[in-house]
Amino acid sequence: MTSVFDRIPGQQRVREILERAVESPGDSYLFVGPRGVGKSEAARAFAAAILCPDSCGECSLCSRTIRGIHPDVQIFQPEGYVYPLELIRELVVSARLTPLEAEKRVIVIEEADRIVERSQNALLKALEEPTGAVTWILVADALDPFLPTVLSRCQIVEFVPVNEEAVAALVASRFKLEDEVSKQTVRASRGDLEKALALAEGGDAARVRSLAIDAAIAMGEEPAAALDFSTRLQEVVASARDSLADRQKAELEQMEEMIGSGRGSAATKKRVGDRHKRMLRRTETDLYLDFVTYLGTALRDLAFVSSGGDPESVVCIDHAQPIVAAAMNRPTQHWLELIDECLACHLSIIENANAPLAVESVLLALSKSPVATIG
Ligand SMILES: [Zn+2]
Repeated sequence: MTSVFDRIPGQQRVREILERAVESPGDSYLFVGPRGVGKSEAARAFAAAILCPDSCGECSLCSRTIRGIHPDVQIFQPEGYVYPLELIRELVVSARLTPLEAEKRVIVIEEADRIVERSQNALLKALEEPTGAVTWILVADALDPFLPTVLSRCQIVEFVPVNEEAVAALVASRFKLEDEVSKQTVRASRGDLEKALALAEGGDAARVRSLAIDAAIAMGEEPAAALDFSTRLQEVVASARDSLADRQKAELEQMEEMIGSGRGSAATKKRVGDRHKRMLRRTETDLYLDFVTYLGTALRDLAFVSSGGDPESVVCIDHAQPIVAAAMNRPTQHWLELIDECLACHLSIIENANAPLAVESVLLALSKSPVATIG
């Protein structure tokens, strides 16, 4: 028999804890661990397991929960860097509603470390007075942004970094890739399961990565090249946004068929629609951030090789040859300075700078860096 917990690869201990907990789930959980180790997927799987008597992972209830369209499972992601206080207040109020279809309701707050202190105090009201009808799952990369009072109300479930074998196994279970491509994907993802799957799919995520690596290799050329990379990146981001919008449209249509116009259907539709809008805006920012991250990784490879590192050990192994050739054109110090520019750009996007402009200006700054030739 299948289990919805099969969706949590490389986290044996987490799986055991959740399988035991599902018999009589607690009121609030905090899933914590590094980025991309499967916490969000695990939160959806756990929500499905709480609602589905067999924790099967295959029935309509499970599949709707995993896709975020079950009326009794609310999944939230922040659109910007922090959650608005009003949203948290709405959540606390909505937690008192009775379930529509299932016995219980589950509220998942992804990136809960983006709930600032004032909003955490608002959330605390709900956590301190559990109704027994709702299970809260907060998902976060770290514990330190949380108030001790919030932490004390939650059962903390710790996720560990995922090893290369688990990432490789997940990629192999979903895609048919040649060994070499699979190895490159796993290394490029650096233990981030979501990233590995997106790269293996070979679509816009993979295009953003190659564009970033090509840009890093081309650094030091004419500023016109920087503008060209920036334009191409904006095109990829626009195409990613369009295909996500298409997928969301199909999902909404499917959802309308499934939930019809019964009690709570309008609220569910509105909630999913709002979440879709937030996701669309987030996807764009995230792709720009990915670009800057990959740019930084490639620059680090360039610095590493130029300081005598083994070309076999570069992260961007599928671009090893051009990296070796480009690395030798500049002193290590030059590459290190470019990495600093990248880090500053990353930070400014996180702090709400206009992402396309921030990326364009970092590319220009990088391409204008003083050219110091050696040898
Ligand atoms: Zn099921």
